[in-house]
Amino acid sequence: MAPKHHPTPLSGGDRKALTKELGKARAMTGILAAQSSEMRAKGAALIQQADKLLCESWNERMWSDCEPIDPSPTIDQAINGGFPWLEIQCSRCKTPNDVDLAALKHPPTTFVHDLASRLRCRKCAKAGRRPSATLLQLGWQPRHPRRGEV
Ligand SMILES: [Zn+2]
Repeated sequence: MAPKHHPTPLSGGDRKALTKELGKARAMTGILAAQSSEMRAKGAALIQQADKLLCESWNERMWSDCEPIDPSPTIDQAINGGFPWLEIQCSRCKTPNDVDLAALKHPPTTFVHDLASRLRCRKCAKAGRRPSATLLQLGWQPRHPRRGEV
């Protein structure tokens, strides 16, 4: 795109004023863009805090009463909030397990509580059963590393 053409004013004073205004506008471009990205970073940090609090709130509820599991954070809220692991237990054989939320094929907008009926215990599946998972806690690291049964 060709640079925008500003008609040159006839008087010298006006020409000077125009040059000054153009310089100001060009300087403002950078200042406003910098302010915008600063605000955006602050906003992202606030969203991250909100996601973290949402996960902590859900964890407290699960720890104290185990219900209701709905409402819960979404997968991307949990990951963004620093809780990328979901600790679960098979409702039938009680095998504990950790689910890496980032590795799931479910859309990131899926609510964590919706995973209860979608995560299957491999051990029970071999026995022809499909019990749902009991959701325990969201975690920042796996609680039972190297189990990988569900
Ligand atoms: Zn099981």
